[in-house]
Amino acid sequence: MSISAKLDVLPRTPLAHTPTPIEKLNNLSAVLGGGALYVKRDDCTGLAMGGNKARQLEYYFGEALQQNADTVLITGAVQSNFVRMAAAAAAKLDLDCHIQLEERVGDAGADYRQSGNVLLDRILGATIHTYPKGEDEDGADANLKMIADELRSTGRQPYIIPLAPGHPPLGALGYVRAAEEILDQLGDLEDEIDHIFVASGSGSTHAGLLFGLRSLNWLKPVIGVCVRRNRTLQHDRISNRCREVAELLDMDNPVTSEDIRITDETFAPGYGKLNDQTLEAIDLCARREGLLLDPVYTGKSMAACLKHVRNIEKSQSTLFIHTGGTPGLFGYSAELNLAG
Ligand SMILES: *Cc1c(COP(=O)(O)O)cnc(C)c1O
Repeated sequence: MSISAKLDVLPRTPLAHTPTPIEKLNNLSAVLGGGALYVKRDDCTGLAMGGNKARQLEYYFGEALQQNADTVLITGAVQSNFVRMAAAAAAKLDLDCHIQLEERVGDAGADYRQSGNVLLDRILGATIHTYPKGEDEDGADANLKMIADELRSTGRQPYIIPLAPGHPPLGALGYVRAAEEILDQLGDLEDEIDHIFVASGSGSTHAGLLFGLRSLNWLKPVIGVCVRRNRTLQHDRISNRCREVAELLDMDNPVTSEDIRITDETFAPGYGKLNDQTLEAIDLCARREGLLLDPVYTGKSMAACLKHVRNIEKSQSTLFIHTGGTPGLFGYSAELNLAG
């Protein structure tokens, strides 16, 4: 059975505007002096300001509807894009949405707490809960389960979107599927793509995409850029995710350990914290291409991608997956150094 036939068997609710375009960044390619740089515009997936989570949520909400849920619960960082887009999907599908915001970024200011994605969460009508710790996936999950149990005791049918390891990687399926869309588009580009760069957080996007590309026999490097944890930990995570995707789809896993390429060179000082390379990437893409990146994910992953493009042969071309997150800019207005 083909991979798309395998995917079609699983419950899915269409939410993302696809196919998203692939665009060549001509000005930036010229400035960098390396090969051509292209961007896959997954910041344009719709669903209340776009991002990679639209593709992932199609499978979670597919399962939620199949289970006759009337309420969806999800946990994430205060400026989580996943949470914001889950709130949008719930509104669209006429479900209630409870979100739990975790304190992952210690010394954040007022905009971080009130603007950007948090503002959108409120506009979208989600019920907001807070969790005081940031690096406590198990604790945050347990608390969310408690909220779900309370809802159930009042007659609701809650569905939890589980993001911690140990759950079927439904979100990754969105990117297994996207791999086929991307391969369909690559043939129409002016240049042959030699490398793909993508942000690697929970790993659903990176693992799903890598799994999908390899099972369709596209064998060039896919480089995941760490935004949440160091490369050793992230390597294990991606390896596990790929194995779980294989189990879920009942297929052989085409991804070997050596095939998982990860860099954490633009990660410091940590999740959701800016550094100079990220600021430079945000600035360059905005001023040369009118392309907005976000401070937490695409700014960091583009920073690593820029470094790579500056150092490769002119004959080599690179595709950057823009995973979205631009509402986060408003949560970081004070940190973007735009005074003057
Ligand atoms: C969540 C997110 C990522 C990371 O995707 P994962 O599938 O969690 O690895 C990257 N970019 C943006 C904008 C995100 O919101």
